[in-house]
Amino acid sequence: MKNAPPAEATQNELTPAKVHWDPQGQPFSEDFNDVYFNTDSGIDESRFVYINPSRLQERWQQHQGSFTLVETGFGTGLNFILTWLEWIKFQKSAKENTRADTDQQRSNHLHFISIEKFPLTKQQISQALSLFPQLKHVSDQLTDEYPLLVKGFHSLQFKDYNLTLTLIFDDASQALPQLNGPIDAWYLDGFAPAKNPDMWTETLYSSMAQLSRKNTTLATFTAAGDVRRALSAAGFKLNKVSGFGMKREMMHGEFIQSQGPLATPFDTIKPWLKPKVTAIKKIAIIGAGIAGCTTAYALARRGIAVTIIDKHGIATEASGNPQGAMYAKLAAGEATHSEIYVQGYLQSLRWLYQHLETGDGWDNCGLIQLASTEKETLRQKKFIANTHYPNELLHSIDAQQASEISGVTMENGGLFFPEAGWVSPQRLCQQLTLHPLITLKNQHIEDISAFKNDNNYSHIVIACANQSKALLKTSYLPTKSIRGQLTYLEQSPNQLQLPVGLKTVLCGKGYIAPAHQGKFCLGASYNIKDDETQMRLSDHQKNFNYLDDFGKEFQQLHTQLNKQAADSYPGRTGFRCTTPDYLPMVGPLIDEGDFDHEFTAIRKNLARYPRQAAKFHEGLYVNIGHGSRGLTSAPLCAELLAAYLCGENFPLAKNHAEALLPARFFIREMVRNKR
Ligand code: SAM
Repeated sequence: MKNAPPAEATQNELTPAKVHWDPQGQPFSEDFNDVYFNTDSGIDESRFVYINPSRLQERWQQHQGSFTLVETGFGTGLNFILTWLEWIKFQKSAKENTRADTDQQRSNHLHFISIEKFPLTKQQISQALSLFPQLKHVSDQLTDEYPLLVKGFHSLQFKDYNLTLTLIFDDASQALPQLNGPIDAWYLDGFAPAKNPDMWTETLYSSMAQLSRKNTTLATFTAAGDVRRALSAAGFKLNKVSGFGMKREMMHGEFIQSQGPLATPFDTIKPWLKPKVTAIKKIAIIGAGIAGCTTAYALARRGIAVTIIDKHGIATEASGNPQGAMYAKLAAGEATHSEIYVQGYLQSLRWLYQHLETGDGWDNCGLIQLASTEKETLRQKKFIANTHYPNELLHSIDAQQASEISGVTMENGGLFFPEAGWVSPQRLCQQLTLHPLITLKNQHIEDISAFKNDNNYSHIVIACANQSKALLKTSYLPTKSIRGQLTYLEQSPNQLQLPVGLKTVLCGKGYIAPAHQGKFCLGASYNIKDDETQMRLSDHQKNFNYLDDFGKEFQQLHTQLNKQAADSYPGRTGFRCTTPDYLPMVGPLIDEGDFDHEFTAIRKNLARYPRQAAKFHEGLYVNIGHGSRGLTSAPLCAELLAAYLCGENFPLAKNHAEALLPARFFIREMVRNKR
């Protein structure tokens, strides 16, 4: 009997799994009337159905670079945990059998992508996996990192394992077209086709064909005739074999249909998102700010030695602010922005927990985005009405709640981000660059080509914000520098009565963080077309006006400051590097001259782009334009850049990678016939 599928969620809303626990504590799906795993022996079943037929050990031994596996239906994560254990076994044996001739051949990174439409909560995952105490040493790490139930991509990096789990909370047919491929192995789980026909669709099979390459394997518990016929038609050679336990039959197979010389055809991925991947022999990153340091770390954790070059040292420019507000400023009606920044925010939080102790360079003290104007109140109302984020991510609070949470008397409520807070970007950068594969060099670079050739660098990443344009004169990088001045408020010399009871970060027109070492950090001014590096009294006074948004105690502080006016205040000046659409620019650089000529057809119709490789500036990549949101965007963008460089599947949706592509402004202008 076919079950009614769970009610469809709207927009970014997710439908969590409805789990029933039987008297033995085994999870059972109420929606699909089915078990998550074999109740007698979930571990043996997973190995029998998925892991063994995929011949992982043998293939990792022969597969160079990153190996990508996609699972439909993450469920409790049991298949993932067991695959992870296989990966640990493989890495251990690789270490013991190091041989110069074969080391290069082996897989050095496992990317496990799992798609789940009806996710379990962290607590449910933990409860289900507690049935297997022998897996606790890895399952605890999964539950530590397991994300909030927010629709979309979540890329989880497991420190020390060279393993990435990208969890995609979405329908398989929505998620698969967002992968860039290629995929090396498929686990088709996802409840029986008779009970869950919505997953076993034409989109599933056609996406699998487009994303597979020769010898990509598949393993599935089902041998249903419809599935077998559809997979055969999509190009898989299948074996029907005896199933596990009481199950009569199951299937495994290989992709044999040749897709031509390209593993992933350009119908699936646009040529401008697919630079040629070349071996990284020697790589330098120019810029030791948050973009450069996170990129260096993302590469180093993949085993790649990196040199960061900066004329001043670690995080001395815009990333040198002592307390940056870390949260996701979201906009109603701008789905791409919000999705990228929410994913980035959750990614940054995971990195902060992994790399810093709270109290040492960051504080997850919560953050209130105040609704201090009528316009902002309306914007927040609209945003909350149109989106469905979990309360743990953000929720509305009124003035009274804002006062209780913040510890100061607020006149307005706003949006509360319970886990957000402030971060010292410099402290994060210092910590990341402790990685033994990262070297720092103080040097001023003027000519990128000369530097690349003279030093035999195969790859260069430009991550020096506003200074990047001068290094890349032939690329169209429409970044804008926006000056920001911070004011530090201290007890002396003005004998100020500081509201030291402030417990959370407050964001209005400006922001203020809880006092750190007796000092408040207030900011930041927003000066367009202004390259003054010295601090100005008038900008400190502008910052004082921001205090009025922060409630009674801060308004009193403003009055005091007016009465005890000084000639100067401590603070600092930095320059944000922003882009016209306020999203960073991350990825390879197309050769614009060649592109203009070869892809001229996009001027008439973007969809009719030529299905051919685009020419890129070989070995040249950028990671810039993070504006004042680098703390939220940099770790995710670093992972994206590492994926480009290493030929891996992206940690985010393909359309989001396209929204971040440095060439997007050039391409938009071609499409609008502006060039
Ligand atoms: N592999 C899992 C494990 O190791 O625990 C068990 C998977 S369980 C048998 C099947 C999973 O597929 C469920 O978690 C279900 O919510 C998910 N699922 C069902 N329909 C889906 C769809 N259309 N897209 C993505 N996931 C789906």
